[in-house]
Order: sequence, then structure tokens, then C-alpha cells
Amino acid sequence: MSLSIAAAEPADAPIKQLIIDGKFVDAQSGRTFETRNPATGELLANVAEGDAADIEIAVAAARRAFEGPWSRFTPFQRQECLLKFADLVEKHFEELTRTDVLDMGMPITSALARKTRALGMIRFYAGMCTTIHGETLPNSFPGEVFSYTLKEPIGVVGAITPWNAPLTSTMWKLGPVLATGCTMVLKPAEDAPLTALRLGELLLEAGVPAGVVNVVPGFGHTAGAALAAHMDVDKIAFTGSDVTGRRIIEASKGNIKRVTLELGGKSPDVIFADCDMDLAVPGAGMGVFANTGQICCAGTRLLIERPIYEEFVARVSAYAKSLKVGDGMDPATQIGPVVNAKQLDRVTDYIGIGLGEGAVAAAGGARLTEGSLKDGFFIEPTVLSGVHNDMRVAQEEIFGPVASAIPFDTLEEAAAISNATPFGLGGGVWTQNVRTAHRMAKAIRSGTIWINTYGGLDPVVPFGGYKASGYGRESGLHHVDEYLQTKSVVMKLA
Ligand code: NAD
Repeated sequence: MSLSIAAAEPADAPIKQLIIDGKFVDAQSGRTFETRNPATGELLANVAEGDAADIEIAVAAARRAFEGPWSRFTPFQRQECLLKFADLVEKHFEELTRTDVLDMGMPITSALARKTRALGMIRFYAGMCTTIHGETLPNSFPGEVFSYTLKEPIGVVGAITPWNAPLTSTMWKLGPVLATGCTMVLKPAEDAPLTALRLGELLLEAGVPAGVVNVVPGFGHTAGAALAAHMDVDKIAFTGSDVTGRRIIEASKGNIKRVTLELGGKSPDVIFADCDMDLAVPGAGMGVFANTGQICCAGTRLLIERPIYEEFVARVSAYAKSLKVGDGMDPATQIGPVVNAKQLDRVTDYIGIGLGEGAVAAAGGARLTEGSLKDGFFIEPTVLSGVHNDMRVAQEEIFGPVASAIPFDTLEEAAAISNATPFGLGGGVWTQNVRTAHRMAKAIRSGTIWINTYGGLDPVVPFGGYKASGYGRESGLHHVDEYLQTKSVVMKLA
């Protein structure tokens, strides 16, 4: 059943079916869509194209599983499933990372380096299964009234994910669903659906009952919209753009379902003159260029203290030019392609907008089409200097390898510029002064602040947005609360 992904010719590209109620099925419409390698243009697979009709069947299966077999699993049995699943992911880790690389372009070295995080996520949530509990409560009539709370799974969860980190973003949805006893219909991004489908297979192999996790690839405006609006879905866990996030809020109104939103950002990375520049240049550089800039919390606005502005721009530009851009399957590659032609146009359009607004390309700025790059969607890592924070390139999420360098004079000004966007997802501070570090960490209104490092995520550390970067947190002890209801029970004793 497992998919061997190689450079397939159209005629022999595998067909990947939906996973609904433990079965591999075609879409009701019979339609499929192509998924291609963004580095080469090669067809990887034809994927069954789920839409509203398939979502209907998948939600019904998830509801049956929620009320049926899965509800009888003890926390220890759910934990056992998660641990078995973790072992299977570990066993197949290279295949899963290769699938991510082929489907969306991430460099293989970065994909493999995510092993601790990916496995840690599942094992962390396995540990959570047996910790979920209510409380007994004091009340106004001790001896006469006994009150306590129960923590109950919220029910059927619709999970909608983006394409930029298929393996880890799917784990972030699976972990709390399985730990709490919820069930799920997962709608992975149409640009990179293969890893989620493979994880669906491994979940069945791990003994997760049919219907607990249903995987329905399809397009956002059809399958995604149907899931978000479905009257029998209790919660939507969404990761993606703020534009789609607003549509999800609108669509979820029908049954007032709970919604958590992990959205985009325009994160500041603040470089003080007293930083260790040997650390800050590659740290802030990869803070924006890693995964070809396709990271929600990328530190895309480099705020640089004026005395070192010219030097830092020169050094980070030299660093950008030194990065090896290429096919993610090559272990030497540091920067892969962007995911598709639309994203390529979006990024090159934004570079043009920045230059039109008066910025200067201190590094990069162009598409790469030489030699083996000719069929892929490659862009030079780009540093725009002379950017003002009110320019569009400093305000709007580009989601590509484009850094905007902005000078500042005081800590207060750096804080004000940091906060002057609609977003609040990440933020970085590079300094050797511990007071500066903590003052900035407090001043930036974002969900995560990194100090003298950038972008690391850990299953134990909460992650999520302030402002238009969304609401809810993933990772951390309280993540499971987003998947639980609290029921209060009040009993008269006398
Ligand atoms: P997107 O919003 O276009 O798509 C995300 C998902 O939503 C896809 O599965 C898509 O099919 C679906 N979708 C699209 N329209 C929909 C609709 N009307 N109803 C329901 N579902 C719909 O985002 P993308 O381009 O796939 O991903 C990039 C975005 O994701 C960036 O903004 C990035 O910052 C964000 N992101 C955020 C995080 C985070 O944790 N905060 C992580 C990764 C990516």
C-alpha cells in the first residue's frame, strides 16, 4: 500500500486514494489532481480529489468512531496507539522526509533534522493521554453540595493544514486529537498531500480504529470550505494564511464550532549593535531564508541598530549569496524551490514592489533558471535594504526568501517598529546585554520570542499568534485544552 515516490512518468504515476473509515477510496466525483515536485516539475502522483461529498462521508465516519469504538479506548490504550504510531514514524522516517522533500521542496538535511521534533511531538502527546483530568471544587455549601468537573473530548475535529511543513504540521493536529479521544477529518494542502496520506496509513497500522483519522485531500474552496462549514464538526484546527483564516471564522458560524487559527506573520528580528555578529548573521539569515522563507514565523524584517546597519546588511547579503540553492534531494542544498508557480510569481512580484517602493536589492532579487534549476521554482535568497516599515514588503507576508532590512536608533523605536504590523507570531533579539534581551522580549507583542537564536520549535513550548496571527496555541501542556470541553457536575448530598 505504501507509495514509492520516484520520478514518475505521467503514465505510471501512482494514484493515491482518500482514507475514509479505514478504507482507501476514490473521490465520489472520480476526479484526481496532480501533485508535482517543485524542483523538477515531475509528476509524483495523481491524488483523489475530495470535495463536499467526500467530506460528508468522512465526517459521518468520524462521528461514528467518536461515539463508538474510540470512546471505549482507555487513556492507556490511546497512549499505546500513539507510542506504536511514533515507532512506525521513526521506522519510516527517511521515507516520510523524502516525501516532504519531493512534494514541497524542503532540503533533505533540514527535513531529517526535524526528527527529534516530529517524534517528540507524538511521544509528548502520548504522555498527555493519562494526564487529562477534571477537578473537585470547593463551593458555597460544603457538606451539602459536591461539585466537580469532567474533561471531555470536544468531538469531531476538522483539521486544515498548509503545505510548508507537511510532516510536522500534521503531527501538531494528530497529537492532541488522539490524546484527548477526539476524531478527525484531515484536509491537507493540495500542494503537498502525500505525507498526510502516508501518516494515515501508519495510523491504521498502529491500531488506531477506522474512522478516527480520515484523510481527505482536496482544494480549499471545495473540501476545506465544506469541512469548515459542516454542522457536525465540533472544532476546526486551521493552519494557513490570515485570508483563509477569516473565511474559516465566517464558515464556522453555522454551528458556532470552536476554532483555533495558526496564521501568518511578519516577524521582526532585532539586531542590536552589541550582538555577536558571527552568530547573528547566519542566525538571522536562516531565520528568514530557511525552508525558502516558507515559514509562518520567519524573521522577515531585519531591524538593525544604525551603527552596524551597513556592516550587517553587507554581511547578511554575503551570507545570502553563499547559500546553495538547488533540488532539496541533494544533501548539499541549503535552499530549495518555492512550492509552485503561483508562489514564485508572488515572491518575484513582491521583490518588484519593494524595488518600486525604493528598496535596493543588496543580495538576490531574481529567479534562478541555470542548468538543473531550469524546470523548478527557484529564487535567489534576497536582502532588500533601505526598507521603511510602512512599505508593503515590510507589512505583508511574502512567504519567500526575502529579508527587509530596516534601521533603528533606540530600543523604544525597535519595539515600536516591531509591533507596527497587523501580525504577532514570532520575534527575535540579538544582543549580549541581558537587560536589552528581556526588555525586548516583553515589548514585542508576539507569541514567541527567540533570543540569540531564531525559529526553533519544541513540543513542550507553546506556539501561536497574537493579533492577526491567530488564536490558540499548539505544543505545550495546555494544547490539549483546545480539544477538550469542561463539564461541571453539581450534586446535592443532603
Ligand atoms: P492557505 O490559507 O492558502 O491554505 C491553507 C489550507 O487552507 C490549505 O489546506 C487550503 O486548501 C485550505 N483552504 C484554502 N481556502 C480555504 C477555504 N475557503 N476554506 C477552508 N480551507 C481553505 O495557506 P498556504 O498558502 O497553504 O500556507 C501558507 C500560509 O500558512 C502562510 O500564511 C503561513 O504563514 C501560514 N502558516 C502558519 C503557520 C502557523 O503555525 N502559524 C504554520 C505554517 C503556515
